[in-house]
Amino acid sequence: MMVRPGIGPQPRDERVTLKHGAGGRAMRMLIEETLAAGFLDGSTDEIGLAALDDGAALLIGDRWLVVTTDSHVIHPIFFPGGDIGRLAIAGTVNDLAVMGATEVLGLTSAMVIEEGFLHSDLERIQHSMQEACREAGAKIVTGDTKVMGRGELDGIIINTTGVALADAVVSDAGLSSGDRILLTGPIGDHGIALMAARRGLGLEGDLRSDVAPLNGLIRRALDTAKGAITAMKDPTRGGLASALTEMAEKSQVGIVIEDAAVPVTPVVRSAAEILGLDPFHIANEGVAVIGVRPDAADAVLAAVRAHSLGQSCAIIGTCTDEHPKRLILDTGIGRRLVTEPEGEPLPRIC
Ligand code: MG
Repeated sequence: MMVRPGIGPQPRDERVTLKHGAGGRAMRMLIEETLAAGFLDGSTDEIGLAALDDGAALLIGDRWLVVTTDSHVIHPIFFPGGDIGRLAIAGTVNDLAVMGATEVLGLTSAMVIEEGFLHSDLERIQHSMQEACREAGAKIVTGDTKVMGRGELDGIIINTTGVALADAVVSDAGLSSGDRILLTGPIGDHGIALMAARRGLGLEGDLRSDVAPLNGLIRRALDTAKGAITAMKDPTRGGLASALTEMAEKSQVGIVIEDAAVPVTPVVRSAAEILGLDPFHIANEGVAVIGVRPDAADAVLAAVRAHSLGQSCAIIGTCTDEHPKRLILDTGIGRRLVTEPEGEPLPRIC
């Protein structure tokens, strides 16, 4: 029998490759097939690894303990708009926040450092972490330090874990037909700034990562919405396309996005063109996708726009019963299916 390539079940890769860490379908397959075995499954109301949400949510009495963890391997460690320290705090604070947990109880910081790493760079990173903690109203409560030999890793890896309590948890799976999709800021800034810095494009002055803790902005949205926010997610690796595809699949709705409504800055748009990258597939570290019931959408939009990190917030689309589990882009001329990238096109983006 002839087997046409790309048709039918794909053979499993024998070895892990960079795409398995890239936040797209390949990474989810690795987690589902290999890594999730024995972890908290989907048999209770609690949210565990099987949900592949931004974090876990455990019932403690009548409140939720939200837990999330992330290892940061970004290259370069200092980039326009931030560094690995700011990223390590913001990334974890944001994963808690998009679960509805905006008041951080504590963060951990575990560093693996390469022999020969500069003390002054470590101080710079530590200062960034403190500054980001101050912005987020969070504190690091414990940590760990390991050093590996020269050449055994590339510079530094920082793992941060965060815990927070929430009265109500917001998953990434609660969308219903009619819900509006809000995007709190322009897409592509983080990944494109990183890529331009790596390639020496000379656009570094104009391109800056958006990396920032969003818990204050999210709290404002939640307070305004009074229960009308149905789903949230931060579109990090794999970009907006991955985040929305996941939300559509888990919520079993279609999502129609109006291309013209999605904020992209002119400098990101032109740099993406030069680099041959689609801003929809590019990682972000300072924006969130918020699903909200239609009657509350305008109020949430206004509340987010009034926040300094949400001035470009826009309603970019609507959930529909048609095309369940699909992401559709309305270009103004026609509609087309948006496919999730296999993985983030840029390795070591966060
Ligand atoms: Mg996330």
